Amino acid sequence: MRMAAAGSMPPFLAAVVITHLHSDHICDLNDIMTTHWVMTQGNATLKIYGPMGTAEFVKRQLHALELDVGYRIAHHEPLTEGPKVDVIELEPGDSFTISEVQVTTAATMHAPVHPTIGFRFEHGGSSAALVGDTLPCAGVDELVASADVYVQTVIRQDIVEQIPNVMLQDILDYHSGVVEAAETAARVGAKRLVMTHMVPAPTPEQYPEWIALAAAHYDGEIIIGDDLTTITI
Ligand SMILES: [Zn+2]
Ligand SMILES: [Zn+2]
Repeated sequence: MRMAAAGSMPPFLAAVVITHLHSDHICDLNDIMTTHWVMTQGNATLKIYGPMGTAEFVKRQLHALELDVGYRIAHHEPLTEGPKVDVIELEPGDSFTISEVQVTTAATMHAPVHPTIGFRFEHGGSSAALVGDTLPCAGVDELVASADVYVQTVIRQDIVEQIPNVMLQDILDYHSGVVEAAETAARVGAKRLVMTHMVPAPTPEQYPEWIALAAAHYDGEIIIGDDLTTITI
């Protein structure tokens, strides 16, 4: 749905990259696989890069879709078999290319979630780092160093700390806060910091407060990475 709103569609995907196997980061993959399969009339293979465990997750998601896959094959003549996927499980430090984009990876820190992987994409002298849910660590520093764009999932520790809910308190020890993300961006010279996956989710009126908190620790451009945000570098 977000791809459609962004003016794109699953058939245009060169690949899917996954940082870790937490449900909020992977459960929509079934829609991507199904839509890619149907829209390409079963002809294209979807490449999926992710940490160890991704292949088993994809296999089980496809298993859950078994009845749906059967219905569609029965109804659409061009479809003769289920979705074609090519899952590539990565070790931190692996590098590869997607079309003309050079991709490097490093381990991030989101224990007990393990393994977790961050990505750096480079093309034509431009670079973007997407590191997922992680504490600041050496892997993040390596991927983000001098990047044109550093996309970081963030939480507001100062707000979460005041919410008397043990499940929420637990998120404090394995995510970067806004301040930590800003400190990472400053330490390794990222040109732009994009904050995304913001918890607790702010209203647009609260965005300036989030930006001000980061700006106290970082001089570069700070962007709220709402869904459908586009950044040209
Ligand atoms: Zn996570
Ligand atoms: Zn998450």
